[in-house]
Amino acid sequence: MGDSLNIRAVLRQHLETERLLGVQDVPLPSVPRVALGSAVAGRSSASPHPTATDTQSPAVGPRSSAGAAPLPETPHTMPVSPDELAARTAALKRLDDDQVSVCVKCHLCRTRTKTVFGQGHAAARVVFVGEAPGSEEDRQGLAFVGRAGQLLTQMIAAMGLRRDEVFICNVLKCRPPDNRTPADDEIAACSPYLFEQLRIIQPEVIVALGAPASQTLLNTKDSIGRLRGRFHDFHISGSPLVGPPTPLMPTFHPAYLLRSPNEKRKAWEDLMKVMELLGLPIPEKYR
Ligand code: SF4
Repeated sequence: MGDSLNIRAVLRQHLETERLLGVQDVPLPSVPRVALGSAVAGRSSASPHPTATDTQSPAVGPRSSAGAAPLPETPHTMPVSPDELAARTAALKRLDDDQVSVCVKCHLCRTRTKTVFGQGHAAARVVFVGEAPGSEEDRQGLAFVGRAGQLLTQMIAAMGLRRDEVFICNVLKCRPPDNRTPADDEIAACSPYLFEQLRIIQPEVIVALGAPASQTLLNTKDSIGRLRGRFHDFHISGSPLVGPPTPLMPTFHPAYLLRSPNEKRKAWEDLMKVMELLGLPIPEKYR
């Protein structure tokens, strides 16, 4: 009974991910139940969230060839020492407690309910950056928890990752009234917090979601249509003369994808480039 529920949950996750990524024709895998059961039986009870690997049934997945040696697992977070992870976690908490949560550097402090620092892994390999909290985020104090957040969760799952393995935040830590686009003075006041978050986490890749995040991080006024689809250099140090650049992939914001589902395929193509760079397996059918 429990296995049957697990299988249904995995299949539902798979179908929802396909639909969210813009795949119109989703063939139901005609796989014997026992085979599907073996696909999920090995999941550790410590990992209750299905990963993209979990959602690949043998009928639709890319790695069902008999006898093939298993590929070495790509780490989902950076393999830092426990001391280093604790230091980064503490630094992020200090930044939130001592500066962001009490910030009055711009007038948005007067209309916010809660500041939204962002959340995730302090040694994430990938950081997703949006523009600003919406109403639900403002109410809960958490980033990307509304409808757009649900889509982002599906996008992350499709990459084979979980939300708690990446870091998710915004350029602005307080909600602009009526969800309007952040103003230049608000971005100027708030973006140092984002740069400090990135300096602490030191991700391997940054995914900028939408125009305001991409333009802020790349210091450009180019449209998201021109920026997306290729990696740009981002310098965590703030200077191209100090340290190597971090690859930054601009793509569409999930809120835009909810309004323009035809663009989901392009966003997925951007994310596949990120997966490739991180060495995450891309299902054959999506190549
Ligand atoms: S938006 Fe940023 S700069 Fe403005 S009050 Fe909030 S935390 Fe401070």
